[in-house]
Amino acid sequence: MSAPVNTHSVALAEIRLKGIAVSPGIVRGRVSVVEGGALTSPARRRIPAETIDAEIQRFHAAIETTRSEIQKLHEQMSEEIGQEAAIFEVHLLMVNDQMVLDEVEKRIRETKTCAEATYYQVIRGYIESLEKLNDKYFRDRSSDMYDISRRVVRHLVGDAFPGKLDDVTGEHIVIAHDLTPSDTAGMDRSKVLGFATESGSTTSHTAILARALGIPAVVSLPGIRDTIGSGEDIILDGYSGQLILCPTAETAAEYAALKTEKDALTKSLVSIRDTPCRTRDGKDIVLSANIGFTEDLPLIESSGAEGVGLYRTEFLFLNRTDLPSEDEQAKVYIAAAEAAGRHGVIFRTFDLGGDKLLGGSAGTIPSEPNPFLGWRGIRVSLSEEAIFKTQIRAILRASAHGRVGMMFPMISGVGEVHRANTIVATCMKELVQEKIEFRADIKIGVMIEVPSAAFTADLIAPHVDFFSVGTNDLIQYTMAVDRLNESVADLYEPTHPSIVRLFKHVISAAKANNIWAGICGEMAGDVLYIPLLIGLGIDELSVGAASLPRVKYAVQQLVTTECAAIVAAIESEPDPKKIAATLREMGEKLYPELLS
Ligand code: PEP
Ligand code: MG
Repeated sequence: MSAPVNTHSVALAEIRLKGIAVSPGIVRGRVSVVEGGALTSPARRRIPAETIDAEIQRFHAAIETTRSEIQKLHEQMSEEIGQEAAIFEVHLLMVNDQMVLDEVEKRIRETKTCAEATYYQVIRGYIESLEKLNDKYFRDRSSDMYDISRRVVRHLVGDAFPGKLDDVTGEHIVIAHDLTPSDTAGMDRSKVLGFATESGSTTSHTAILARALGIPAVVSLPGIRDTIGSGEDIILDGYSGQLILCPTAETAAEYAALKTEKDALTKSLVSIRDTPCRTRDGKDIVLSANIGFTEDLPLIESSGAEGVGLYRTEFLFLNRTDLPSEDEQAKVYIAAAEAAGRHGVIFRTFDLGGDKLLGGSAGTIPSEPNPFLGWRGIRVSLSEEAIFKTQIRAILRASAHGRVGMMFPMISGVGEVHRANTIVATCMKELVQEKIEFRADIKIGVMIEVPSAAFTADLIAPHVDFFSVGTNDLIQYTMAVDRLNESVADLYEPTHPSIVRLFKHVISAAKANNIWAGICGEMAGDVLYIPLLIGLGIDELSVGAASLPRVKYAVQQLVTTECAAIVAAIESEPDPKKIAATLREMGEKLYPELLS
């Protein structure tokens, strides 16, 4: 390796950045900035003004070494593969690009930042512009640029550069532009203390997974990769959504105290684990857990859940490129059926599409201009009947091992319910013929998460055993607010009167047909909304295991008649913010420690 690493660095002032808190917890650690495909960017060091010229020389020396390396490779490969080696000529043009070299030099001077981090940042800008072009040629060139930039960085910092997230040693806080649900599911929990992303929102599946996995997270911090570099020391506050770069000793002490206080509250809630989820006037609410992995099964017991109200089965297979066989699925579902409590487990059939694609998604779900309005959930299952039947058969087989329910995602009307129920009936007939055991009285319900289903809940109710309202999607579709888009996050209002009215309609349709109605969207896990949901007459709340003790505590402080009075009071209120304020007032009176 050529130039030695510059070891001078300067102290920095504390910087506070505010995003959206999506997963609670306070952590402090060194940052690893992750680029596309889990590649990390080099550590950023600030350099003293007097070493700037030396730093620029160091940069040019690394460029020169990279140039000769590529030239050598070109000669060698031309002999071996002939014409195909022409790609190295493109690489040479890239490494010699005067615009890039000038920009790096300018930025080193202006920002007093080390050469490797500056160079990587400049290249990243080019790569991101290329990736935005919907053209395969340019997308391929962007990976060539990654390739070259990593050679240059290696010449600047030596073999110590952890090129991949997996190579990072020790604990760290991940910073990325965005993370997919499968990136999050694949995180090494022993190393990743928390994460922060430039894009993202509270109800994205990445955020839902972070909460489920107990990884503190903050999203919607545009441009943080320009402010925070790998190796820097930060505090991530997953309660308020703050990121603090280079915290002072005073800030560090303040956060240590806050962490102690929050941990004490979590610990104190353990004492109510085995108590019923019952209001002060004696109404029992079924409190279940949302899970998505076999490893989550112990959480049912440890969180005090009565069962599983939503098993997101598609999470199980996000990191693979193929779909599992019936036997493989049956094994996973049987384990859940055996572990679930007295209310059992409700398996939601695959809700693929939207932001949830299999690792090798290209083969299963084609890319779509509007994936959330496209081929998703039950739509995929009804058109890929063989895949749907395999899953239904596996769920039915699990029903012989415990209390099992099944529900369909993204139902938009009664027609889809009939088609899905017919396929279930066919699977049952097959199992009878094959003498395979299952429970014929298995409860079958639907997610109410598409406005057309909510409006026609009275028509759907006679054909199902229960409703589970998916507020994450119901709010997104009712209000035309993309649940992943941080630029419209403030328009995503769970207390909008349209949402309250839809809830009322769905719950009264359920009651008129003697079926139960629950909520399994993220709204059920936010203690602010519990008085509203209880006042509306909800029977079940299904929430992430981490939020479960807080929700139980909130329910235990409430009186149903007071909740019903709140609903009556807000019924003609047009302003969602005022409705939220009324709920906050009630929460602050009854469980202030949960809302602070
Ligand atoms: C919902 O939409 O509220 C829901 C629970 O399903 P998901 O978040 O998986 O779309
Ligand atoms: Mg949904």
